[in-house]
Amino acid sequence: MLFTDLPLDKRLLKLLEQLNFSQATEIQQQAIPFALNDRDLIASSKTGSGKTLAYLVPALQRVTKRKSLTKRDPRVLILVPTRELAGQVYGQLRSLLAGSQLKGVLIQGGENFNDQEKLLRRDPDFVVATPGRLANHLDARTLVLAGLEMLVLDEADRMLDLGFADQLRQINAAANHRLRQTLLFSATLDHAEVEALAGDLLKDPKRIAIDAVT
Ligand code: ADP
Ligand code: MG
Repeated sequence: MLFTDLPLDKRLLKLLEQLNFSQATEIQQQAIPFALNDRDLIASSKTGSGKTLAYLVPALQRVTKRKSLTKRDPRVLILVPTRELAGQVYGQLRSLLAGSQLKGVLIQGGENFNDQEKLLRRDPDFVVATPGRLANHLDARTLVLAGLEMLVLDEADRMLDLGFADQLRQINAAANHRLRQTLLFSATLDHAEVEALAGDLLKDPKRIAIDAVT
């Protein structure tokens, strides 16, 4: 399946082509159509299989093609376990926001809190964050998630292994529920804590497991 076979915004398709993404990977083929139809997802596939675009493509499609439901930013929050991963995902997001008016910010631990507060005040459409620092911003009310339309948990198993269960539940509780779509990615679905988290955060999720080691 090619990205051009999917019902995506022309500008997004052009960017994907410029970035040399033409053929969608297996996880992208399976996940993107359900995500575009507003389904919650719990998905696993091995490292290097293209999970980042499996959520960034539907996130971008939503923000470009649909009016904000509440006019409150951010509309999309992507949580990842580590600073290294946050930087990679943010880089990928930036390349897909090239030439658009949309804004993304990176909120990770170890950086100046006040500088991050200033970035958050500029109403970013997308936030890529590590859970600990994001939770700190909720505590300080430097971020409000009342307008959130999509929550992505990337490497959910690793976030739980790193002890972020409380922060993930806090972030979930702060984000509006009625409007929200949640996409959870994990290297494995055979993980009791991931199942429990999915049970709490996801609504009737579509399950996708590719090359699962069971
Ligand atoms: P995962 O999160 O599943 O480990 P990534 O999203 O980090 O995988 O993608 C791994 C690599 O594959 C990245 O370098 C990414 O740019 C590349 N990639 C992702 N999707 C495609 C695609 N459809 N075509 C070609 N390369 C891709
Ligand atoms: Mg990944």
